[in-house]
Amino acid sequence: MVGGGVAGLGAAWRAVERGASVALLEARERVGGLVWTERTDGFVIERGPESFLTRDPILLELSEALGLTDRLVKTNAQGAFVVHRGRLEKIPAGFQLLAPLNAGAFWRSTLVSRRGKLRALFEPWLPTRPRDDESLASFVRRRFGEEVLDRLAQPLASGIYGADPARLGLRSTLPRFLDAEAQGGVIRGLRAQAGTEDRAAGARYGLFASYDGGMEVLTEGYAAALGDRVRTGVAVERLERTVGGWVAHTDGGPVEARTLLLATPAPVSARLVEDLDPTLAAHLRAIPLGSAATATFAYEASALPELTTAGFVVPAVEGSAVLACTFSSAKWPHRAPEGKHLVRVFLGGHTNQDVVHLSDEALLRLARRGLRELLGVTASPLFDRVDRWKGAMPRYEVGHHRRIARIDAAVAALGPVRLAGVAYHGVGLPAVTRWARDATDTLLQ
Ligand SMILES: Cc1cc2nc3c(=O)[nH]c(=O)nc-3n(C[C@H](O)[C@H](O)[C@H](O)COP(=O)(O)OP(=O)(O)OC[C@H]3O[C@@H](n4cnc5c(N)ncnc54)[C@H](O)[C@@H]3O)c2cc1C
Repeated sequence: MVGGGVAGLGAAWRAVERGASVALLEARERVGGLVWTERTDGFVIERGPESFLTRDPILLELSEALGLTDRLVKTNAQGAFVVHRGRLEKIPAGFQLLAPLNAGAFWRSTLVSRRGKLRALFEPWLPTRPRDDESLASFVRRRFGEEVLDRLAQPLASGIYGADPARLGLRSTLPRFLDAEAQGGVIRGLRAQAGTEDRAAGARYGLFASYDGGMEVLTEGYAAALGDRVRTGVAVERLERTVGGWVAHTDGGPVEARTLLLATPAPVSARLVEDLDPTLAAHLRAIPLGSAATATFAYEASALPELTTAGFVVPAVEGSAVLACTFSSAKWPHRAPEGKHLVRVFLGGHTNQDVVHLSDEALLRLARRGLRELLGVTASPLFDRVDRWKGAMPRYEVGHHRRIARIDAAVAALGPVRLAGVAYHGVGLPAVTRWARDATDTLLQ
């Protein structure tokens, strides 16, 4: 296994569960990749991902297998805000990412005009025209109208994908919405899906879960379970196909293996397969990558308004550099000591990709301006952290699934090797984990 992020760790653990002999090679001195939790003075600061969706119970099951179940935590927060003409307004109850499922709450909201509400609530009576793939923007415009797109769907989707909904393909990002339309309309279909999901999983933790000591509890759990099968500080530089399988040439010498899983970021995997199949490398490089920056602040609780929701998202039409803000310590237990708070501001997004090139001071200034204008925070923070995520967010464009099918076919033709990671079959931790485990099963067969 090459690459010790969530994909590589999940794959390596799967191989161990199946009784295979495995080595995981990770270039850095620590495993986890994008998962990175800092623990300082009683604060638990997520520098990377902060939680995971439980709709797919895979990480709940893995937590059980790794002995981490009693470390799982559920969110304390109720709902979230969206910025509307410079002010925070509650996202109507029952609004599911792109679709208003609670007609009463949506009707009472002031985010959308009366005309916009009527347009959206008329959705169950529209003829259904499900397509193989379609941009997220075109889908929402077609089913719910322009206002729902601009004021709710765009900021909520950007909060997850950091990308323009006009360039995101629904088939690879949120296929359940396309499937819902095929079930007689989006609202009707989502309601039917919700019924089966509630029975299937996640009810104990709600829609999202995390760990008491942050997401690194998961990657530390993997590392402990894998023991000396993990070799950190070993960067793979070149791959060689041999009669018996593969040789991974690393900065510490060659490592031989019968089968190989590349769980490195797509541009690194492209470089590693370049000599074996240049067309495959080109396909991998063609997956567009987005960037974002985050600024995290610790405050005395008295410096902030009362924080009871998860945070807020900002529509692009508001013209702000702030994309979203998570009230980390209100959302999750154990994130800050008593009487203190942790908030995290996301900057960038598709309209502001350049923010990652700004200095720390400039990023902090932008983030603090957002907190001042939207929450009235004028006090100085106790401390701050800035993180840049350059090219860390693969953008699943319309037709992404066709590009990935070509990549998967080319990889299979190379021999006993598979790719896993955030660039291919889902950007969230559960999707990345599920695919990595499936890829391992294929290799072991
Ligand atoms: C800011 C941010 C917030 C996010 N928040 C969430 C969230 O709240 N919930 C959620 O579900 N998802 C979230 N995500 C997505 C999530 O972080 C990713 O899905 C996941 O971490 C990707 O894991 P990975 O193993 O594919 O890649 P990575 O974590 O990037 O791992 C790749 C690994 O490969 C190693 N590597 C690179 N080159 C080599 C080499 N030559 N040899 C050996 N090793 C090498 C790297 O050092 C790295 O450890 C977030 C992403 C970002 C950027």
